[in-house]
Amino acid sequence: WVEAALGTDRLEAVRLRQGERRWEIACDRLACGYGLVPNVELAQSLGCATLDGAVAVDDQQRTSQPHILAAGECTGIGGNELAQATGRIAGLVASSRLDAIASVQAEARAWRRFAAQLARTFALNPAIARLAQPDTLVCRCEDVALGALVGHADWTQAKLRSRCGMGACQGRICGQATRVLLGWTPPAPRFPLQPTRIDSLLALTEDER
Ligand SMILES: Cc1cc2nc3c(=O)[nH]c(=O)nc-3n(C[C@H](O)[C@H](O)[C@H](O)COP(=O)(O)OP(=O)(O)OC[C@H]3O[C@@H](n4cnc5c(N)ncnc54)[C@H](O)[C@@H]3O)c2cc1C
Repeated sequence: WVEAALGTDRLEAVRLRQGERRWEIACDRLACGYGLVPNVELAQSLGCATLDGAVAVDDQQRTSQPHILAAGECTGIGGNELAQATGRIAGLVASSRLDAIASVQAEARAWRRFAAQLARTFALNPAIARLAQPDTLVCRCEDVALGALVGHADWTQAKLRSRCGMGACQGRICGQATRVLLGWTPPAPRFPLQPTRIDSLLALTEDER
């Protein structure tokens, strides 16, 4: 895996690691991913329960909240086909077409088995969670390094004292990183859930507010 990105003003090389072997490759671009995380903010704000980091649903995509269905990757990472199958189930339930649901549920179950196999095969190596150094940026919006976070009791204390999570992404990226790196649980999100223009807020009608 990539152990470090190296360079002075821009990326110049990456240091790779395999077991105890380390070597560098000159490069000017790096694309690097450690997996996907369900986006549950909207559902959480509506009071829907989560399970293992995803919105909890039954086999008809019903959440813990009456009248709220959830489909797609907010209910668990599984790829495009599973997302589409769960979307079709939710559509059938919402339009009371339960007669047509069984075959789509079977399709969803098959893709869920594929997703489980994918998760087992590409489980994150625990060594990756130990890669960050004290000067590694955790919050890229506010330039907060890991060294400035270690020693705080929890996410809220670290946020108030270091500005971690107070930038444009409002902790969406670094919140998840601190979950892995420090075992913290960021609090439930608050509205607005995405960066919003003041113009858009001003344009809301009384009802929308
Ligand atoms: C880099 C990358 C590569 C991928 N490659 C593959 C691949 O090769 N094969 C494959 O099968 N799958 C792949 N996937 C996964 C695939 O993209 C997803 O499985 C699929 O898009 C999930 O569909 P979805 O409708 O659940 O979510 P999305 O397609 O993510 O749609 C969710 C929508 O909700 C909107 N939204 C989010 N929050 C809010 C809010 N608060 N208010 C209003 N709107 C909101 C978003 O803007 C978005 O349009 C990849 C994903 C990524 C990130």
